[in-house]
Amino acid sequence: MPISRPSPRVVVFDFDGTLVDSDEALLEPFDMLGIDRSRVVMGSAVAEECESLGVSMDAYVDAYDTDSVKPFAGVEEMLSGIPRWTILSNKHPRPAMAELARLGWAPEVVMCADAFDWAHKSLVPMLERMGLDASDVAMVGDSGGDLRCAQEVGCRFLWAGWNPRVRDADPEGEVLDEPAQLLSALGLP
Ligand SMILES: [Mg+2]
Repeated sequence: MPISRPSPRVVVFDFDGTLVDSDEALLEPFDMLGIDRSRVVMGSAVAEECESLGVSMDAYVDAYDTDSVKPFAGVEEMLSGIPRWTILSNKHPRPAMAELARLGWAPEVVMCADAFDWAHKSLVPMLERMGLDASDVAMVGDSGGDLRCAQEVGCRFLWAGWNPRVRDADPEGEVLDEPAQLLSALGLP
């Protein structure tokens, strides 16, 4: 028998690779800046990644096309069924906000790389800002960094298995095949 757990009050999503199919959009600026794709670590903090690859973050962000990413199939319907949700992202805030505006998405809170002094993101300041405990939230993500955010505070974590990169990696833990499964997994109507 599965153990029934209380529904989280707030669902925290990673953005790139979790809500939007953005690998190509994230890699293209590196192509333009002459960086081989094999050197790029997906899911890392934008400033740290640019620094380790020896490119200017401003040049990277200027080269990023904010009109190209699309949500994964089923994500928009899933989001419309979640009462309270936020975004915790390692992305630069400028393209993140442009994409959210284009998609018409209005998460309750958005924290991007600048909110963490450009180091790797963390759930700690988001929980503090929202007055929530780890038991109040569930985190959904596509990378080991996302998982570590959940582990740092001890909240539930679910893998965005609708991203083929996650599916191929076949990670341990709760892996969802489709966005719609999130609602039932969290006990949301
Ligand atoms: Mg991601």
